[in-house]
Amino acid sequence: MRRNDEELAKMRKAGKVVAEMHEETRAAAKPGVTTAELDAVARAVLDRRGARSNFLGYHDFPAVICTSPNSMIVHGIPGAYRLEEGDILSIDCGAIIEGYHGDAAFTMGIGNISAEAAKLIEVTERSLWAGIEQLKKGNALHEVGRAVQNVAEANGFSVVREYVGHAIGTAMHEQPQVPNYWPGNRGPTLKTGMVFAVEPMVNAGSPETEMLDDGWSVVTADGRLSAHFEHTIAVTADGPEVFTLA
Ligand code: MG
Ligand code: MG
Repeated sequence: MRRNDEELAKMRKAGKVVAEMHEETRAAAKPGVTTAELDAVARAVLDRRGARSNFLGYHDFPAVICTSPNSMIVHGIPGAYRLEEGDILSIDCGAIIEGYHGDAAFTMGIGNISAEAAKLIEVTERSLWAGIEQLKKGNALHEVGRAVQNVAEANGFSVVREYVGHAIGTAMHEQPQVPNYWPGNRGPTLKTGMVFAVEPMVNAGSPETEMLDDGWSVVTADGRLSAHFEHTIAVTADGPEVFTLA
């Protein structure tokens, strides 16, 4: 699906709201704070900007952000979990403005974190940017995953296979999917006006995942740390434009 300039302008606005949710939840995430409190911070941003949530009610998801600490990869439900010094926390945020969606995530350390945790966060973010660089007119979509995988694996980490990025527009999750690894074929050719959410999930240990009993929380099978970074990006004549940057 290719978006026209008017549609891209709306997605740019939605992206700015998501960036603001990132700034405010990042500032609020400290030892002793619960993940439910971070959800409230994100709700206040949506209210202030007149945006709707694309997470709340999605298959009955009960919050406007996902909060995934430590070995949790994605889709954690905000609640009573109280952040501790040394945790890492992934926060995934989304917003809808005038029917158009933004979606982006980041992982942060809570206070002082281990050297391995800091490296995992740094490498995962770098893998996202390596993927974003591939979002150029005429390139093959699956070059994104190849670039992400190269950065993650060159640093001794692994890439999750079961959960992937996606096209985004009038729905949060549109086709085609955007794998974070080379899937064995080139995929669609990129055209201007296409918009994708690229979202590497990188594990310190093995790539295998497990689902907790709540039906949402995805964790590493080996219990080791995982990080997640995501942006919403358009393919433009001038190269990739990241909508969800502050
Ligand atoms: Mg997301
Ligand atoms: Mg996404």
